[in-house]
Amino acid sequence: MATATKILVAGDVRGQYDTLYARVGPIHEKKGPFSCLLCIGDFFGEPDAAQLALAPYLSGERSAPLPTYFVASSGLMPACMDGKGGGGEIAANLTCLGQAGTREIAGLQLAYASAADEEQASEQLLALRSAADAPGFRGVDVLLTHAWPRGAFRRLPEGALPAELLPDRDLDTVGLERLAELAALLRPRHHFVATEGQFYARPPYRLPDGHGAKLLAMAAVAADKKQRWLYALALAPLSATGGRPVEAEGTTDCPYPYEHVKDVKDERKRKRERVKDARDWVAQKCWFCMSSPNFEARLVGSINEEAYVSMAKGPLVSHHALVIPITHKSHSLELTEAESLEMRAYVSALRASCAARGEALILFERYMGNSQFEHMHLQAVPLPVDRAELAKATFEQEGAKHGIRFEVLPADTPLSSTLAQPEPFLHVELPSGERLLHRLRSNEKKHPLQFGREVLARLLGQPRRADWKVCLPALAPGGPTIDEAEQQTTDAFKADFAPFDPTLVDGVS
Ligand SMILES: [Zn+2]
Repeated sequence: MATATKILVAGDVRGQYDTLYARVGPIHEKKGPFSCLLCIGDFFGEPDAAQLALAPYLSGERSAPLPTYFVASSGLMPACMDGKGGGGEIAANLTCLGQAGTREIAGLQLAYASAADEEQASEQLLALRSAADAPGFRGVDVLLTHAWPRGAFRRLPEGALPAELLPDRDLDTVGLERLAELAALLRPRHHFVATEGQFYARPPYRLPDGHGAKLLAMAAVAADKKQRWLYALALAPLSATGGRPVEAEGTTDCPYPYEHVKDVKDERKRKRERVKDARDWVAQKCWFCMSSPNFEARLVGSINEEAYVSMAKGPLVSHHALVIPITHKSHSLELTEAESLEMRAYVSALRASCAARGEALILFERYMGNSQFEHMHLQAVPLPVDRAELAKATFEQEGAKHGIRFEVLPADTPLSSTLAQPEPFLHVELPSGERLLHRLRSNEKKHPLQFGREVLARLLGQPRRADWKVCLPALAPGGPTIDEAEQQTTDAFKADFAPFDPTLVDGVS
């Protein structure tokens, strides 16, 4: 048996060095010695305050009780980091690892990446790829990334997700896709992440060689122990292990849909290809790009040259549709004139179809501006006329509860005349044509992702239907599958929409 190396890992320190070492010091003394302390997440917080808090360590008045390594961040750094962004010792026992790289510490293979967005993560993935391409590469012992890998919650059995995990977040959009690819590439035994302020230990997942990998999200350093921010582990370096791995109970398949393909292509050529493929790669993940494996053709109710109509997945009401540009566009201000015209033609047709059923149409578009995977779509929700009349007041009342305020714009005001520059927004078009515009930046609180749908569900007196998953077709024994039921919904929509569908009407006239 190889000797295990004992290390400590802490989450975002944010300038709380004394709090950090007040806890780490005694643990190192009583339960150690530990070879090192690794810090992941924001090590400094506000730069001036960090410089002040570090002063005793820089002067030698105080010192870290064990070698401490932290990953740089891309934001502002305190003065002591001048010239050290690429890594280096800033005080005794206090070393910056740099932004991204690999390093051997205490016999362990360590990799780290500081990326805060997909672009940085793409660059760092490229930089770290050569480590995985090295002959005989078997994975790394520890991977540190500030951000979480996107999709870490996939492959978990029913009920395995703690209900209180990041309650304000849509878990599907947490983290970075390129870090998921990095984790698949580097095959870490332990992957530590931070920055979300919450502790989470994912059940282990299986690596290609049969070993288990753990993802651990660390909370931020704090005087209280409400959230776990310090983690101790003893691990035998990968280089010293052999034999058949024993699988821990509850191990899942790897949640990241990437396989590492070894090749010897020139790095620069690869980089050029990556830039060229960036759009393709987005399209491969998107729900609304038709070339994507995630695209669900059975939901499509009508297709024109530039835009199409899709059924909403888990519809709030019958005939709940989405109007979507065929090309991947983030928001309606990005649309070409041809795209705009076709989308408006679909909206007019949906309105007419609604009116024929004695209903009124509410439209809304939300632009979050935080992901290149955002493919714009106009939600088109038919409501009973007496309910639709209350929509304006309900949006305003429900909005007030969340700090959401609306500008009221007269009918036929194009969004572009109000928003000179694109910025995140929620835009509602009432049956009267009047519009409500909320600028997300005007509200300090996090925008509730499903706000538009929540308001309409409440308006209908069915608040539970705000959750689209509740609205998926019910499965009955011997009845249609979800796919079949969705196809039936689309077919019914097509039949009702046919007399109004611009792609059909134009052909007739
Ligand atoms: Zn798309």
